[in-house]
Amino acid sequence: MSKVTEEIYSVRKLQALSSLASKDPAAFWAQQVDLIDWFQRPAKVLEGSPPTERWFAGGLMNVSYNAVDRHLRDKADKVAFYWTNESLDYRAITFRELYYQVNRAAYVLRQLGVKRGDVVSMIMPSIPEAVYFGLAVHRLGAILAIHYVGLSDDVMAFRLQDAGSKVLVVASKGFRAGQEIRIKDIADRVLNNFKTPVEKVLVVSRGFSDFNVNGSRDVVYEDIAPRGKVYVPPEPVDASDVGTIYYTSGTTGRPKGITQTQGGYAVALNWTFKALFNLGPSDVWWTISELGWPVWPMANLYTAPVMGVTAVLFEGFVGQRPDLFAKVVERFGVTHVWSSTTTLYTLKGLGSESVTGGDTSTLRIILNTGEPLNVGAWQWFRENLPNTYIGDAYWMTEHLSPIAATPYGIAEIPFRPGSAGIAFSPTRVLIVDDEGKQLPPGNKGYIVLSPYTPALGKMWNDPNYERYIKTYWSRFPGYFYTGDYGYMDEDGYLYVLGRADDVIATTGQRIGTMEVESTIGTHPAVAEVAAASMPLPGGKGSALLAFVVLRPGYQPSDQLAEDIKAYARNAGYIVDRVVFVRKLPKTKSGKIMRRLLRAALNQEPLGDTSTLDDPAAFEDTRRMIEQVR
Ligand code: ATP
Ligand code: MG
Repeated sequence: MSKVTEEIYSVRKLQALSSLASKDPAAFWAQQVDLIDWFQRPAKVLEGSPPTERWFAGGLMNVSYNAVDRHLRDKADKVAFYWTNESLDYRAITFRELYYQVNRAAYVLRQLGVKRGDVVSMIMPSIPEAVYFGLAVHRLGAILAIHYVGLSDDVMAFRLQDAGSKVLVVASKGFRAGQEIRIKDIADRVLNNFKTPVEKVLVVSRGFSDFNVNGSRDVVYEDIAPRGKVYVPPEPVDASDVGTIYYTSGTTGRPKGITQTQGGYAVALNWTFKALFNLGPSDVWWTISELGWPVWPMANLYTAPVMGVTAVLFEGFVGQRPDLFAKVVERFGVTHVWSSTTTLYTLKGLGSESVTGGDTSTLRIILNTGEPLNVGAWQWFRENLPNTYIGDAYWMTEHLSPIAATPYGIAEIPFRPGSAGIAFSPTRVLIVDDEGKQLPPGNKGYIVLSPYTPALGKMWNDPNYERYIKTYWSRFPGYFYTGDYGYMDEDGYLYVLGRADDVIATTGQRIGTMEVESTIGTHPAVAEVAAASMPLPGGKGSALLAFVVLRPGYQPSDQLAEDIKAYARNAGYIVDRVVFVRKLPKTKSGKIMRRLLRAALNQEPLGDTSTLDDPAAFEDTRRMIEQVR
């Protein structure tokens, strides 16, 4: 542990660390270099400056070597991964087994022609094989692009094309919410009906045989995997080479293809989780995320195995049974949970059994990521899990070390409900007005960054950074624009109030969606809520609408709508209408797509809906909107 890190124990010190770090970001990151093993240490930490900087260029390393080979010495018999599912079936994989399996997977990929710099795509559920192949891709120095299960066929085809992927790795099928998802059939449909660069499909059969095998294209992994032990040397790659392509969630528009590097990214993530989690040798880390959301690979490929920590892979939907979350924690003695905000809302919606229906006494921290965690949900977790720290980390696919967070590892800072925590990396966070002028604490405005992290992504297929600069660096020259709206308090706590595009302008006021939602979210009848506005005729400002999903046991009624409005009014928000809906429109990563509500309210085109999770439910909502307009 670096000296600076050791000394931090309070908010004040944390701020000192971040300001020290931001004065000399290269020196800060130089101290973190040895979190991973290098074949050749980088001579220089930072080359150039953002937006066109390169971190650790010339350093040679391999993520797969860091995740498996280096643990053989002292952790070979330690469990690297537990796998479980909605039925609590069980597998355990040691680091020795992981090493063996990653080499087998890499051997087969190499036979299929995969080499350094190639892009390999993957569509899989959260199973150990996804870890084997994810790490195997990196072992060969190739680039990994993971796609969601359940994207529409045309979107899937576009992504394969955009990524330029000649090899696609899929599981025959996956299971979620009690349903079988026939992944290989999806791949067949996409490849048979659209033009893509895919030449080979490698199918992990999972013991099933009820899928088509196209002779010249498909290869069944279990048929060709070497029986005995094989060794594939890890390819030394430049730390600043592209390692991963992620597509953003599509919450605010068409998803953007973002790259992260092979090495700088791994350093940034390993520092991040050391600071956030302070994991010990016997801790167990469960990340609740689908494979297609960056959160899954961040934890299960680039951090937990690199740290030599035991992780839990969960296939399915944790809301499938009221006590499932608690039972998984109990079964594996989970100490650290990293979860999407939507999952936390699901647990709250299920009632206290979700966190007390099993022995959850091992649980030290639940870390939220994805959206601002509303105060009502935070309170609910505090009441139901009084001994668990509910932490937060605010980041984005483009900036994958936290912009602000509550770092439980280096200082257990007091949580302030509604805040995502404070900046603690060299990245500087500022709030600016429409003209880009910095605003003092307490004032609401746009969140912009002077970003100094090796986890600052670039855009895929954009060699001269043109699109990247236009997209992120042109709205406020000199700053990276997050697209988010919020404020900072006197102590440096950052409050993300929502997306700048979603800001609601009522009479003389600009309100972030989270402000209203946090209030309404504490009403006892409310499971979930999304706020959106609609301009009133004659330029008379906007009407504020609240879309509400009720908790089990509550029925929609005019009386309840009035009650919710009165509740909001008490906190100073005039809600013009409460619309009860079955489901909120969400992305595949579970984020509320308020822009779709707004578009429907304003009778505008919906724009990109490629990541909309449940189009049928949104159609219902749209019909309701037609009625209330
Ligand atoms: P797109 O960029 O395609 O519109 P997206 O912004 O949702 O989608 P992601 O990169 O997955 O794509 O999400 C980053 C965004 O998520 C941030 O800009 C912020 O709005 C929100 N976010 C993430 N974590 C938090 C958090 N802990 N608190 C508040 N907001 C968060
Ligand atoms: Mg975004």
